[in-house]
Amino acid sequence: MSEEHGFSTRAIHAGPPADPAYNAVTPPIYATSTYSQDGVGGTKGGYEYSRSGNPTRTVLEECLASLEGGRHGLAFASGLAAEDAVLRAFTGPDGHAVVPHDAYGGTYRLFARVYEPWGLGVTPVDLTDLEAVEAAIVPEKTTIVWVETPTNPLLSVADIAGIADVAHAAGALLVVDNTFASPYLQQPLALGADVVVHSTTKYIGGHSDVVGGALVVDDDALADKLRFHQNAMGAVAGPFDAWLTLRGLRTLAVRMERHSDNAQRVAEFLEGHPAVAEVIYPGLESHAGHVLATKQMRRFGGMVSFRVKGGEDEAVAVCGRTKVIILGESLGGVESLIEHPGRMTHASVAGTRLEVPADLVRISVGIEDAEDLIADLDQALRG
Ligand SMILES: *Cc1c(COP(=O)(O)O)cnc(C)c1O
Repeated sequence: MSEEHGFSTRAIHAGPPADPAYNAVTPPIYATSTYSQDGVGGTKGGYEYSRSGNPTRTVLEECLASLEGGRHGLAFASGLAAEDAVLRAFTGPDGHAVVPHDAYGGTYRLFARVYEPWGLGVTPVDLTDLEAVEAAIVPEKTTIVWVETPTNPLLSVADIAGIADVAHAAGALLVVDNTFASPYLQQPLALGADVVVHSTTKYIGGHSDVVGGALVVDDDALADKLRFHQNAMGAVAGPFDAWLTLRGLRTLAVRMERHSDNAQRVAEFLEGHPAVAEVIYPGLESHAGHVLATKQMRRFGGMVSFRVKGGEDEAVAVCGRTKVIILGESLGGVESLIEHPGRMTHASVAGTRLEVPADLVRISVGIEDAEDLIADLDQALRG
């Protein structure tokens, strides 16, 4: 599969031949821990133990690499396991990292509760402010700048190319968590990022049926280091999970188109609703990052946040009144989900700089009929 093929074609065909043994169209689930060898120290097919490598996982890893425009993909047991490998590989107890001040809650917890106690200095900054990013870098100490864009749940948009220049000028790596956009909407490596991180649990898997993570890099030396950590720390994606994730990945392009269509319609509906104080969606001209998002993203994705008039109690009540849209955490699946970040996904950051507004509601807009989602939100907002 050549890199000249389009995204949708590569999502379906990129990677090694699915089944050299029997020519099955879909790759088999290689449920094996080990492989017979053709001599001491030799392998027959390149695999010797499934923590180090598994053919089902390889198909997923190579397909993801192709879609992100990098040469190396690595699949993990979860998004946080992938993040952990990056932090172990590229930071140290005396080092320093610049991180988003509105990072995904679990990412922030990993920084604040695991890596800070280990000795890593961590500075949260507003990534929409390039000067603040520059000022947060500690010369000779900062080894990574961590970017999420759009962010969760406030959907702010960071300038990947601009931050790449600032990070590289200081000798730091730029890591981009591309979970919210997916490679269909945004390709950070082409904009200067060194490492792309995914929670494949979200849009890549796309069906809320598997937890997984991935890294993609283009540079061989970075890949070697990450592969060492993937194998040495061992939090790999199992063959069943890799297969399920790959099954979701095949339809990423069509799903992201529909997520983006529906989210735009939901955002426009909410913007005109009397019970809504503010709508946050990068596809709206009222969004501070709209112009930048238009430049670095193909479309604006499926996540919409909004603030409800009437404060926290009313925001919580709205979340409890939807009938089609399911009350639940997570995002990126075919079904729409609604949640109250302050009490749910972001409860762990209460009292920190990452605290979110109490009247905020977040929707992961699914691929149902937009009319049904809009009618459901309307009745929920009317109470
Ligand atoms: C869910 C998520 C993660 C963590 O991934 P898991 O698969 O839950 O470990 C990291 N970053 C973002 C943006 C996420 O949404």
